[in-house]
Amino acid sequence: MSAKKKGTTESFEQKSFSADVSRLLRIVTHALYTNHDVFLRELISNSADACDRLRYDAISNPDLIKDNPDFRICTYKDTTARTLTVVDNGIGMSKDELADNLGTIAKSGTAALMEQMEQMGDGKDRLKLIGQFGVGFYAGFMVANKIQVISRKAGNDDIWLWESNGHDGFTIREASSAEAARLDGQRGTAVTLSIKDEASEFMLDQKIEMTIKEYSDHISVPIFLGAPEFVSQDKDTKPINSTSALWMRPKSEITKEEYDSFYKNISGGFDEPIMTSHWKAEGTIEFSSLLYTPTLRPWDLFDPSRRNFVKLYVRRVFITDNLENLMYPWLRFMRGIIDSEDLPLNISRESLQHNPTIEKIRSAVARRVLSDMDKLSRNDPAAFATFWGQFGPAVKEGLYDATEHRQSLLKICRFYSSRDDGAELTSLADYVERMKAGQDKIYYLSGESLDNIKNSPQLEGFKSRDVEVLFFTDTIDDFWLQTVLDYKDIPFQSITKGDVDFDSLDNGEKSDKGDNTDSKEKSETDKADKKDDPAISALITKMQEILKDKIHNVRRSKRLTDSPVCLVAPDGGVDMYMERVLRLHQKYEAGTKPVLEINPSHALIAKIAGLNNKGEDINDAVYLLLDQAKIIQGEPIDNPGQFARRMSEFMNKAL
Ligand code: ADP
Ligand code: MG
Repeated sequence: MSAKKKGTTESFEQKSFSADVSRLLRIVTHALYTNHDVFLRELISNSADACDRLRYDAISNPDLIKDNPDFRICTYKDTTARTLTVVDNGIGMSKDELADNLGTIAKSGTAALMEQMEQMGDGKDRLKLIGQFGVGFYAGFMVANKIQVISRKAGNDDIWLWESNGHDGFTIREASSAEAARLDGQRGTAVTLSIKDEASEFMLDQKIEMTIKEYSDHISVPIFLGAPEFVSQDKDTKPINSTSALWMRPKSEITKEEYDSFYKNISGGFDEPIMTSHWKAEGTIEFSSLLYTPTLRPWDLFDPSRRNFVKLYVRRVFITDNLENLMYPWLRFMRGIIDSEDLPLNISRESLQHNPTIEKIRSAVARRVLSDMDKLSRNDPAAFATFWGQFGPAVKEGLYDATEHRQSLLKICRFYSSRDDGAELTSLADYVERMKAGQDKIYYLSGESLDNIKNSPQLEGFKSRDVEVLFFTDTIDDFWLQTVLDYKDIPFQSITKGDVDFDSLDNGEKSDKGDNTDSKEKSETDKADKKDDPAISALITKMQEILKDKIHNVRRSKRLTDSPVCLVAPDGGVDMYMERVLRLHQKYEAGTKPVLEINPSHALIAKIAGLNNKGEDINDAVYLLLDQAKIIQGEPIDNPGQFARRMSEFMNKAL
């Protein structure tokens, strides 16, 4: 994809953008982007990152910055050439790095996201998604019809020029000495944008200054207005930004605007944080942390890498933003910084991977964040519900990932329930508070969606007894339930598994809170009635015979009131929906045969029992009952062709 041309004066390489970049550029340049200004924030944040990275490298190799030890970023316009330049004396890029960093996108999952965005049209949703993705360097093409990047990697001699109009790929060649003069001293990067007519406001110093103040005030590197040689000569020029490390300032002195603007800088997003956790830990380990929970779910939240993006600083020096164990994976949606006072500055990034101080920080931060979440749930339930909708599925991963935080996690977990047909979230504590006398389990039903679950026949017996059932609809629920068996010693019990002890529920046995003789008597007579009905017993025997290869057994149901049949997992078996999920994730192989429960009081069951007594063939009816139970459950039926044939025959007879 690269062609070498020999020009008269210099040689240059013409390269194509990767497919992802081309797509991103199409979206960026053609989208009606209301927020053009953010390009400057993106360029400045790249420059600040470049300074941070060189500052870190210089700890072990001071020669790198010997001739020019003060890091800074300069921005200036040239109204004659109609250009705006952002120049830094950071780490710079080699020729290969220019081609890689500004020609491809390294984030995994980008291709899929771009495809999705292309299909979305120019609507608001697409803008939202782009905002979460972070357009980065390419945002420059919203305001520029040409961008030149001149760069010299710290420690290298060669200086390269990257140039592109944003649609026909890019060229790379060696920079001329006039072009090289754009750099600030002997290293770093100068990005020069040829400003489009519709972005002329960026030819005004006030606009540049305002935008920087607004979006980049708390960048720790000083940002100056003016070309580098002008700034060096005039010792009185002050940086535009306040340059303080926001996280070191006392909470009481920081306004919400300052917090939010720092969030936008660090996340590259457009949303506001839903929760800001700012904390200075003093004790056996000392660190400051400023961590934000976004309002919108980051686009790659469920990327298999589960990586976090929190930046690690050591005494104000940036170390890395790619340290796997700095945050638990189930808090990977948080953005922000952690600044340690204890770690040595010259620590290598590799040795951080298993550092005990990092592990202590991770745990302390999780504890703090969980307590902040708990606070939010009490002080602002609506905001918490939004948060939980976006990040609950990720947070719940912690239930099996981090035993140490399990109790605090269970405290903030929220679920829908049968109490109000899945209208409002409830906490486990509130559920337990509402438990009936005689109830000694937390009942739940798991399934694909609320709509599916709400109409499950298995719920009928619970609803009629006014026993609340929690609805678990996230795939993750079926995983944590395998390790978290109880909440405050009350076991979780799936209502689609095993036999439910309705008798003690009806009697209120567990609690001894008064003996309800009336209902006890009633249920006892009910039981006697149905247990002894010989037609039903005969039907059960017959059904067991017909379905012996498909199911574990057939039994009378106590959980059904309106439906004729339902399937449940046998005692000690794996809950049926959970089994399906596990099968899907290849965590489970052997299929357990389910139990088919029939409702002896249902007219249809009584009718089939009658036919059976008369010696008539009930085969088709029994198979239809089983298929019906599977369909309600969302399970595939074994033989759709036969199902259709049986169904047509029955309809034919009935119509
Ligand atoms: P991101 O900053 O999220 O990595 P960008 O699109 O903003 O994505 O930048 C892409 C890459 O280009 C950066 O990761 C960095 O390696 C490189 N880069 C961009 N600007 C600079 C700069 N001023 N100095 C050094 N490297 C830079
Ligand atoms: Mg960037």
